[in-house]
Amino acid sequence: MLIALDSQNHYVQADLIKEKNIKGSLFCPGCRQPVYLKRGKIKIPHFSHYQASDCFLFSEGETLEHLAGKQMLSQWFTQQEIPCMLEAYLPKLKQRPDLLIWLDQKIPVAIEFQCSFISEANMIKRTQSYQKAGYKVIWILGKRFKLKRKLTAQQRLFLYYHKNLNYHLFFLDTNHQKLHIFYHLIQFERNELLKSRNYQVSLTNKKITLKTIINHFETLTYQP
Ligand SMILES: [Zn+2]
Repeated sequence: MLIALDSQNHYVQADLIKEKNIKGSLFCPGCRQPVYLKRGKIKIPHFSHYQASDCFLFSEGETLEHLAGKQMLSQWFTQQEIPCMLEAYLPKLKQRPDLLIWLDQKIPVAIEFQCSFISEANMIKRTQSYQKAGYKVIWILGKRFKLKRKLTAQQRLFLYYHKNLNYHLFFLDTNHQKLHIFYHLIQFERNELLKSRNYQVSLTNKKITLKTIINHFETLTYQP
């Protein structure tokens, strides 16, 4: 996890906190058990439970990819002045989206950076619970979901539809800090090859913002 609570109940972020400024203990925002700051040369600074815990919100062994992706996206939104919260716990839903952003004041958007397997039932349950509570949800996929010659059942779960983009999927490549939007996805038959277009955005290029992407796709047309 990237966010913990300090002894005054304030949220602290792992990459911003200075060890000498930590007063007292830090706690997991989910289970309230004590956590500690882990920092190393190749690691992304993050918090970890002291004991192998049965925390309902944060499983231990969160991958470097997942930690790095959350942090990259949070920095990308923040630098565009898009309101963004990392790992915000939503008590009513008992869910903790990886990020929560606001593109306008009315509709919060939950962003899930999915790096590991999730069952179909669980994915649908989580999506519906966000939607019922008035959140939009965007699933962004990690490297285990990389597109190959055919769409897998797991990948199909995360397909979005938009009139200009037609079927599309979101990917984050944390190694190259690139967001990929694969759109105009077509695969007519099970045994046919997948066709798609790829729109890539480098998260380190400050000129390309979410607005740039939205504007790009607004002018796009699709002819089946
Ligand atoms: Zn916990």
